[in-house]
Amino acid sequence: MGVESKEPLADAPRKIGNIRRIVVDRTACIGARSCVLVSSKIFAMDDQNLAYILDPDADDDENLKLAAQSCPVLAIHLYNEDGKKIFPEE
Ligand code: SF4
Repeated sequence: MGVESKEPLADAPRKIGNIRRIVVDRTACIGARSCVLVSSKIFAMDDQNLAYILDPDADDDENLKLAAQSCPVLAIHLYNEDGKKIFPEE
């Protein structure tokens, strides 16, 4: 795993709250940056202008959900502790 640590984090478990996993679909991300504007504690932009996860536990469920909702292409997917996708709803 150490070898891959330079890869931007796009899929991360969460230790807190009802949202227990965050996935950023970097192939869908268009670099709109709204997720970072809503939660700059969790999300950041890399040098390709694609979002990645800075720290999955650095913000609360509510703000994380707002960040996911702000994404114009719904590239941020959220899962609960059972592994069920809770956003976007399918
Ligand atoms: S809001 Fe969506 S499209 Fe914009 S940077 Fe974040 S993940 Fe990418």
